Amino acid sequence: MSNLFYQTKSPRPVLDRASGIYMWDTAGKRYIDGSSGAMVSNLGHSDPAVLDAMRAQMDKATFGYRLHFQTESSDDLARMTADLAPAGLNKVFFVSGGSEAVESTLKLARQYVLTQGQPQRFKVISRYPSYHGCTLGALAITGYAPMTAPFDPMMQRMPKIPAPRAYLDGLNPDDRATGLHYANMLETAILQEGPDTVLAFIVEPIGGASTGALVPPVGYMQRIREICTQYGVLLIHDEVMTGGGRTGRFFGADHWGTTPDLIALSKGFGSGYAPLGAMIARDDIVDAVMDGGGFIHGFTYAGNPLACAAGVAVLGQIAARDLVGNAERMGAALYSRLMGLMQRYALIGDVRGKGLLCAFELMADRATKAPLNPALHAHARLVDIAYDNGLIIYSRRTRGGTSGDHFLVCPPLITTQVQLDEITDLLDKSLAQYMAELPA
Ligand code: PLP
Repeated sequence: MSNLFYQTKSPRPVLDRASGIYMWDTAGKRYIDGSSGAMVSNLGHSDPAVLDAMRAQMDKATFGYRLHFQTESSDDLARMTADLAPAGLNKVFFVSGGSEAVESTLKLARQYVLTQGQPQRFKVISRYPSYHGCTLGALAITGYAPMTAPFDPMMQRMPKIPAPRAYLDGLNPDDRATGLHYANMLETAILQEGPDTVLAFIVEPIGGASTGALVPPVGYMQRIREICTQYGVLLIHDEVMTGGGRTGRFFGADHWGTTPDLIALSKGFGSGYAPLGAMIARDDIVDAVMDGGGFIHGFTYAGNPLACAAGVAVLGQIAARDLVGNAERMGAALYSRLMGLMQRYALIGDVRGKGLLCAFELMADRATKAPLNPALHAHARLVDIAYDNGLIIYSRRTRGGTSGDHFLVCPPLITTQVQLDEITDLLDKSLAQYMAELPA
């Protein structure tokens, strides 16, 4: 009987060890980590270089409070992170996870507008569906009713615009008019809210769990940037899932070359070796807040030397082994394998993603995009079948939690072609088993 509790009652096997893309439970069963946990383990498990770096740091110091000491590892990681960030974003603030990174962007944005004499700006526009974290501030901007509704009176509800799900609306994502159509919804929302009241717009450059690897249509990200600049609205990129090379670029937004004002980063940044995240900010934003008396924010574990030593080693390995390039190459290979499965299983209504942030969506009818009957709980059932077969994938109900089921297939960035074949075979087997279970 365990004293632990998380989200649900269903107990899982006890993890014994993990190496590369594989994990073993204490009964000796092997699993392929086909979702890198929750899209975290970009570098795979038990990387010797990271473990060595962490051991070396442990021999020196595992904690130094940030108000008492800077540490070599936090200084090094901040420099490496700023070097990877878009020009003009050189200020790095460490946190321990994605929700903390998002909260930090909201609070820095708010303090910045105060220094600019614009206290009336407080609204943060986001998208529906979206996921930005589980703390109350991050939930206020999250568009996913099953996670937000129970906490409604405790949060200030923030305005949302639809995510650009062109595939559901029958629009061509390669047509610039589609990108403009969705991006201009931001302008409409800003005008409706009152431009002077809007603080920021937050966007996952490529959707994560909420939309299942939704890639924005052509022109969308650029138009979003233009609108934010025009109305003095800060643009926040939530790169918690897309950052760290997962999409075949270090940041998801690097695919479009657009520059946000603030970035939230976590997951692959620490790759599961330590709880680690960061906010990256435009230099002048931080300078203004510092000149105004300082940032009223900070977590006790922020900049933890052990977590930062892990981060330095993770970024070092990602660069040295060209894992961002591997994510792009293996991502293309995975995408075509998923398309192959789509040809064989009518149930797969859509395949999408970039790099190793790939997903497929099950539907009752590919032509009409009608979702599966929610009572089937496909999102949970297929994951369980795959799990029994030794493959871990990640799922969510994609259409606001009421219906529609997508599955993220996001193995570590070290995955090889042969391992992709293993993943595809197990998916194939699991889909066939799922189909056999469906009522006629
Ligand atoms: N933002 C995005 C895009 C995420 O995918 C997540 C987690 O899934 C978060 C924020 C929250 O991160 P964490 O669970 O580390 O707090």
